[in-house]
Amino acid sequence: MRVVSLASGSSGNALVIQHGDTTLLLDAGLPTHALRTALAALRVGDDTLTAILLSHEHHDHVCGLAHLLRYQHVPVICTAGTLRALDPGPGFGHKVIVPGRAYELGALVVLPVEVSHDASEPVGFVVSDGEATAAVFTDLGTVDQHVYEALRTAHLVVLEANYDSGLLERGSYPWPLKQRIRSPRGHLSNEECASTLARLDFWAGREIWLAHLSAENNTPRRALQTVRQTIGIRHERVPIRTLPRRGSPVEWDSRAPVVGTGQLRLL
Ligand SMILES: [Zn+2]
Ligand SMILES: [Zn+2]
Repeated sequence: MRVVSLASGSSGNALVIQHGDTTLLLDAGLPTHALRTALAALRVGDDTLTAILLSHEHHDHVCGLAHLLRYQHVPVICTAGTLRALDPGPGFGHKVIVPGRAYELGALVVLPVEVSHDASEPVGFVVSDGEATAAVFTDLGTVDQHVYEALRTAHLVVLEANYDSGLLERGSYPWPLKQRIRSPRGHLSNEECASTLARLDFWAGREIWLAHLSAENNTPRRALQTVRQTIGIRHERVPIRTLPRRGSPVEWDSRAPVVGTGQLRLL
């Protein structure tokens, strides 16, 4: 299974998950032209996606969707709440999913997991090819037991590290927006992300991506520093990377060999 992050953050989110002939796009939060160009670079042409999964209806996750469906005639997979919020009108090819139930999409099995966020029935996803598992959780204000269990066994853990608490506190955002971001239905801070990761085991073959970093209230360096300090020396056992908001895609391949003592994955 191959996972490629095309964009991550409040200016756009899109992730590709591939296994065999199956290609899923998880969120379509880039302009359609940018999405098609990025997909083409991965040799995913028009009308070759298997499905488009949506985590929730916020603009940074769906802004390219309507136009992209002219080029990818595939079902949009989302919760009833997301569908209601999108209000796409008749003729919209979709499949409604229920959090906690697993779905076969081609060669992949997808499990949506409810998250706490100020959207209409938002979810994160666990995607498995039968051997490797990726868990993708951004846009959540808190990590409950279901989310934690989803992360616990994943080979690739993609978890939000949205803001540094100090930077948000001192930053220029208006007070209500700061409160919204910090609330249990907002976003995960570096500290919350780090304390969640610290509860995981760091076995060789795992990889961690810190996702949805705020441009204003975070830096990749701060996010990594907080996570490494919280995890302690164990962080050396697994690769931990921050996802760029845009630019070069970041890729993980479950079949890539783990070398040496298992501390490095060849990318
Ligand atoms: Zn978002
Ligand atoms: Zn959101």
